[in-house]
Amino acid sequence: MFGAATGLYLIPQYVNKIFNFVKKRMSEIIDKTKCLIIGSGPAGYTAAIYTSRADLKPILYQGIQPGGQLTITTEIENFPGYPNGISGTEMMEDLKKQAERFGADIRWGSVVKVDFSKRPFIIQADDNKTIQADSVIIATGASAKWMGIPSENKFSGYGVSACATCDGFFYKGKVVAVVGGGDTAAEEATYLSNLCKKVYLIHRRDELRASKAMQNKVFNTKNIEVIWNHLPQEIVGTEKGFAKIVNGVILKNTITGEEKKIDIDGIFIAIGHNPNSELFVGQIELHENGYIKTESGSTKTSVEGVFAAGDIQDHYYRQAITAAGSGCMAAIEAERFLSL
Ligand code: FAD
Ligand code: NAP
Repeated sequence: MFGAATGLYLIPQYVNKIFNFVKKRMSEIIDKTKCLIIGSGPAGYTAAIYTSRADLKPILYQGIQPGGQLTITTEIENFPGYPNGISGTEMMEDLKKQAERFGADIRWGSVVKVDFSKRPFIIQADDNKTIQADSVIIATGASAKWMGIPSENKFSGYGVSACATCDGFFYKGKVVAVVGGGDTAAEEATYLSNLCKKVYLIHRRDELRASKAMQNKVFNTKNIEVIWNHLPQEIVGTEKGFAKIVNGVILKNTITGEEKKIDIDGIFIAIGHNPNSELFVGQIELHENGYIKTESGSTKTSVEGVFAAGDIQDHYYRQAITAAGSGCMAAIEAERFLSL
């Protein structure tokens, strides 16, 4: 009896030992590739299409958002080649299939560590694999900053957007709000004023952070009304199954605390973006704002053999087509680098 009980007691310890042994062996698995691509947005998948067609046998890690930012929006109407538009998810699934068709090894999981100090570069992923790569294409994108209120998430893609160039068209002739006081917010408000009946620019302070030139544009546009010293508290709307429609926003006065509701059809959050570049701090040169530095007109970074494409190196255009274009550039540059 006693022996059997002791045996049972030991089982978890053996299981633990076996688990640790397997884990250790798994972490020792080393894959080699001519090109490792980090990220599965339009930049990463385009780089995968080109590098696999060039027979570089790329490995691509998708990260926590397979398909990238476009998977959180509804319809894409400005990507060339889709006369009737296409859903973001479908477009990214098509790009993935296209890359796989040419043999790209597309993997679930994220890269957790990189060592660019010597070649081949050493990359560790959270699937316990270590990769030796002759070249690397970074396409980790950027993430729009959100205010963090629950209704923002609930109506995301159904009246809440972080991209006026992308989604403004859906609000033609309607009333919208833009949140923020920087150049992006001013630019989005001005862009939307050409499409929409009325644009509220909601800012938490009593002066804009935007450049004087952008401020002048805002102040000189008749259908833009700035609401100073206010912050959105809740975005309100109706919900019927999957159909959600925004019809207003509750604002709180940042000085008096008073609340009021304004009627709107959509709201654009323009409070900045964060480049997903923490992984590369100390490994390659970054701009002060965290975006990766690339040579002008190229995707070359400060480390030879490491290239950066898409939003991670572009805080200006931030479009799917420009991301895809630079993914193509990175692939061609990686190929030429490897053939030197
Ligand atoms: P992203 O699309 O940002 O993809 C980054 C990828 O990197 C993700 O797959 C992520 O999982 C991965 N990643 C991050 N860290 C790691 C890691 N450590 N390891 C592995 N992978 C990692 N543009 C348009 O042209 N038209 C539109 O209609 C449009 N609509 C938009 C709507 C919204 C709501 C938003 C937010 C953006 C929209 N954009 C649109 C902009 C467009 O989505 C971006 O410009 C484009 O997705 C950038 O592509 P990217 O490949 O650089 O990066
Ligand atoms: P930004 O300059 O950081 O401005 C962000 C704005 O959002 C600020 O006004 C800030 O308010 C507000 N904000 C931040 N967090 C908020 C929150 N949680 N709730 C409500 N409001 C919040 O970002 P950006 O406008 O995206 O610009 C980024 C960089 O790109 C800047 O250097 C900008 O000049 C540049 N840019 C240039 C152009 C152009 O030249 N045409 C266009 C776009 C962007 P506070 O002011 O109170 O901090």
